[in-house]
Amino acid sequence: MSAFRYTRYSPVSLSQIRPAGWIMELLKRQCSSITGHPQASGYPFDHTFWGNPTQLPDVPDPNMLWWPYEQTAYRIDGAIKVGFLTGDDTVYRMALAEIDQAIEQAAPDDFIGPEMFRTHDRWPYAVFFRAVLAQYAISSDKRYLDALVRHYHSTPHPMNFGRDVTGVEILLALYAETGQADLLETAQDLYARFNRQAGEFDLDYSLAGMRSDKPVTTHGVSFNEIAKLGAILYAATGDQDSLAATLNAYAKVERDHVLADGLHSSAEGMCGHDPLASHETCNITDYTWSLGHLVQITGDAHFADQIERVIFNALPGVIIKDFKALQYFSCPNQLVATNVSNHNAMSRGDNRMSYRPGHPVQCCTGNAQRALPNFVERMWMRGQGDRDDEIVAALFGPGQLDTQVAGTQLTIQENTRYPFEQNVSFSLHPEHPVRFTFTVRVPGWCHQPAITLNDQPLTERPTPGSFYRIEREWQPGDQVVLTLPFELALKRWPEGGISLEFGPLTLSLPVAAPLEIEIEDAWVQTPEEFRLSGPQQRLPGFPAYRLTPASQWAYALAVDEQSLAQVAKVTWNDPSGFPLDLDNPALRVSVPARRVKDWTLVETDRVIRSIPSFEDGKFCMVDRPVEGHFTLTPPLPDLESLPERLSDEVEWIDLVPYGNTLLRMTVFPDGMKK
Ligand SMILES: [Zn+2]
Repeated sequence: MSAFRYTRYSPVSLSQIRPAGWIMELLKRQCSSITGHPQASGYPFDHTFWGNPTQLPDVPDPNMLWWPYEQTAYRIDGAIKVGFLTGDDTVYRMALAEIDQAIEQAAPDDFIGPEMFRTHDRWPYAVFFRAVLAQYAISSDKRYLDALVRHYHSTPHPMNFGRDVTGVEILLALYAETGQADLLETAQDLYARFNRQAGEFDLDYSLAGMRSDKPVTTHGVSFNEIAKLGAILYAATGDQDSLAATLNAYAKVERDHVLADGLHSSAEGMCGHDPLASHETCNITDYTWSLGHLVQITGDAHFADQIERVIFNALPGVIIKDFKALQYFSCPNQLVATNVSNHNAMSRGDNRMSYRPGHPVQCCTGNAQRALPNFVERMWMRGQGDRDDEIVAALFGPGQLDTQVAGTQLTIQENTRYPFEQNVSFSLHPEHPVRFTFTVRVPGWCHQPAITLNDQPLTERPTPGSFYRIEREWQPGDQVVLTLPFELALKRWPEGGISLEFGPLTLSLPVAAPLEIEIEDAWVQTPEEFRLSGPQQRLPGFPAYRLTPASQWAYALAVDEQSLAQVAKVTWNDPSGFPLDLDNPALRVSVPARRVKDWTLVETDRVIRSIPSFEDGKFCMVDRPVEGHFTLTPPLPDLESLPERLSDEVEWIDLVPYGNTLLRMTVFPDGMKK
């Protein structure tokens, strides 16, 4: 692919990357679960939308017309990539059929999709066209590229809803590929119209909002989809101001909202980082997709560190490890996951924190399927322009790159279980000796990194938080080994909370919970879903789960920054099997803890539920009391009473990687304050 002029790194085509090891295993689990069985998740995944442009969703509220197109587009984008990467032809062809049908059934003027989108919110196109661009990358078939360019030429782009501006991402991807100036002009015009419109509303993700010191409080998905556009425009035009605005916005999010598992809160607005702050699963995908752009554009390794923490922790933390059920909202501290356990204000007391194959709103079900293949796509990058002979290992994990450099065929095997081991080993196989630059990222969290070339240390020491360049004539069989000693780190959170990290892994106390199948609500459907699909019959083998704690969790950690490294005991387990299975964590970290007396789950017969509503034609959130019986994860004990509630006795508890858990404690009270 060609690329932008003002970017540090360029993307590598998905067709050149082959995952292996635990990444391939998780992708295959996706294929054999909800990605390969979309009907398991119910409406709208059991219907065809993009592949049948004459079908309009029969919904009573026209403001919701775009939903099924957004949700099914997420799934198609995930499925085309996962099907390709795993070689699962059935999954790949199912997604491809919808892409091909949508293009083949374009209007005479080449407008793709149903006619209503000519004048209606066109946000779902950004999602669907990523899938078309993925197929173009996989196949190199210009038919896909041409279809998108003709689509954008067919009719003016509306700008009547904030996320319409996400067309900028696609227009600029097409501009990068074709060099057609009118595509850049259309993108710039759309972005300018959005910013003029945003002025009225003081949006956190407009240029003015991003530049300001005002904390970000907006909707997580909207933020990630729109805030990155300033950086992408910089990549195309060199406009430093728009890049600076995007970087400032992401710095504010990191400062105010990033949680212990690496992902910012978003339930569904960003809501700080107290121990009960949660996130919408969509943002696992959307935040990392945006950060991937920022790594490429700026060459700042920090963004890659952030992506890894989300994908290694938050992503596996929201799925049943067979990928047949997932959460909509998830939290570093979640002690109960049932059809009424959602402790967030948004839809409080509903099933959004339960593990199930689908939820009342289906964005996360579709969007979660994109997270891992997008990570794979960003594992490798290369230099831009006259640095095209630079090959960059940006994100780590087992796999292989097959590419060309300086006119020579090159394979690089990445042999590692990272992040479930501390070494990343690269084996380079150029067809014949060839000079190029091989660059590896050195994570910022690692204080003692080491790099060897053919078992010899290199003269220049690697710097944490940088990209390390090795320029030489490479011989077939050359080996580069990056050693990244993991260190324990203690993080402090509001309400006196503390959590532990070990290298790129966040640590949690796994709370035992029998995998009880939810039977009370076989499927919670919205009235619209019920009308469209009739009662959902759950697909055999795709249950919704009811998880309640069956082991002790009311602990405070009896460690501090000074004592942590001396007292905590790290035990690496036998490196076999799938390292994210509940009973097969790659490591355990034993730490001293004290029980906290009278710290129990919240039991209540009434919750205040915040729900989206349209009143007088305007979107707003309204609070409604809901009666029932609700068992919820409690906040941390109040700091004043904590010392007297701590047991005198110190016990040792075993923490494991966050991704190995379903119910968990991650942010603990501080047990040193006795
Ligand atoms: Zn979502």
